[in-house]
Amino acid sequence: MHTSPAIDALPRSGIREIMELADQIPDAIVLGAGEPNFATPEHIRRAAAAAAEAGHTKYTPNLGIPALRAVLVDKLRDRNGYAVTADRIIVTNGGVEALFTSMTAILEPGDEILLPDPGWPNTTAMAHILRATPIYFPLAAEHGFVPRIEDLEPLVTAKTRALLINSPSNPLGSVIDRSRMRELVAFAEARNLWLISDECYDEIVFDDRFVSAAAVGNPERIFSVYTFSKTYAMTGWRVGYVAVPSIAAPLVAKLQEPITSCINAPAQHAAIAAITGPQECVREMRDAYRDRRDGVATRFARGGIGVHPAAGAFYAWADISASGRSSRDFALALLRERQVAVAPGTAFGVRGEGYVRLSLATASDRLYEGVDRIVEFVQAHRPALA
Ligand code: PLP
Repeated sequence: MHTSPAIDALPRSGIREIMELADQIPDAIVLGAGEPNFATPEHIRRAAAAAAEAGHTKYTPNLGIPALRAVLVDKLRDRNGYAVTADRIIVTNGGVEALFTSMTAILEPGDEILLPDPGWPNTTAMAHILRATPIYFPLAAEHGFVPRIEDLEPLVTAKTRALLINSPSNPLGSVIDRSRMRELVAFAEARNLWLISDECYDEIVFDDRFVSAAAVGNPERIFSVYTFSKTYAMTGWRVGYVAVPSIAAPLVAKLQEPITSCINAPAQHAAIAAITGPQECVREMRDAYRDRRDGVATRFARGGIGVHPAAGAFYAWADISASGRSSRDFALALLRERQVAVAPGTAFGVRGEGYVRLSLATASDRLYEGVDRIVEFVQAHRPALA
C-alpha cells in the first residue's frame, strides 16, 4: 500500500533523539525540552474546572469563543501596541496550529518561505508538509542572532511568498529591536512578501527591546502568532491565537473546520481567566527565568564557555565549539558520560553547529547542577584535544 514519500522523508527531530535516550536514564538532568517547569496558576485551572461544571463542554465557534476573542483584542492593543478587530483573531490549537494554518493559507506547492537558521524546526516540517520549499537566512553570533536585510535580499526569488521571523527566538533568546523590526516589515512589504511573526514568547522578555511586528508595520500584511503555552505555563492546554490580515481571515477560518473544528472549550475559558486575571504569575515566572539566565551565564563564564545573553524566551544558547565535537556528538556523549540532556544546536539548523540549547524552564538546582556538569565535561575533554 502507498504512503506519502514526502511525509516519510520528514526529518526526525534532533531534540527528540536525545530526549528519548534521556528517558531511559533514571535521574538524568533534562535540559532539552522547551516547557515551563511551573504549574499552570491556580486561578486559571479553577476557571477551566468551573467552565466544565457550568456546561461549557460542547463545540465552540470555529474561530473561538467570542468572549475570548474580545479580550484578545484588548490584550493586543494594551500589551502588543496595535489595533485589530475581533474578526481577524482566530483561536488555535497552540501556536503550532496558528503557524500551520497561516502557512497553509498562503503557501502553494513549490512556493518558497524564508526561515531562520538557527530556528525552531517545526516550521521547516510545516513547509515540507505543504510541499513548499524552506529557504534559510542566517542568524549569526557576530550580528546578535537577529535577521539582517543584507542576508535576506539575495534569497528572494519569484517564488518567495513569505518571511517568517521569531522574536524572542527559540532557540537563541535573541529579540529584534524596534529599528530592525521596522526594516524587516518594510523589506517584506517592498518585496511583496507576507510576514509571519512568531511572537509566542512575547511576554517572556528581560528588557524593553521587544516590539510586535504589527506595531511598526501594516497588520494587513502580517500574521502575528501567539500562545498561552509559555506566558502562563499552559503547554498542555493547547490554546494559541493568530491575528491575520483581513483578506486571510476567511481562509484561516475555513481551515479550522477540517483541521480541528474548534479548541477545547474549558481551555478557552481558562485562557480568558489567564488574560483577565492577576498577572503577577507572569512576572514571577519571567523573573525566575531571568535569574536562571544570569546564574547559568556566571557558571559557564567560570568554565570559559560563552553563552548568548538572552533578551527573551527561556533558553541558553551555549558555545561548545571548544569541545572539538559536533553538537550532536557532544549532546550524546554528555548524556552518556554526565547524564545531562541538552538539545544539539544542529537540531535547529546547520548554523547551530558548535552550540547546544539548554532550557531555563527547569528547576534552578537541577539546571545549575546540569551546567556544572557541562563545564566539567568540556574541561575533562579539553586536554585530550590540545
Ligand atoms: N513558536 C516557537 C518558537 C516555539 O518555541 C513554540 C513552542 O515550543 C511554539 C511556537 C508553539 O508552542 P505551542 O503550540 O505550545 O503554543
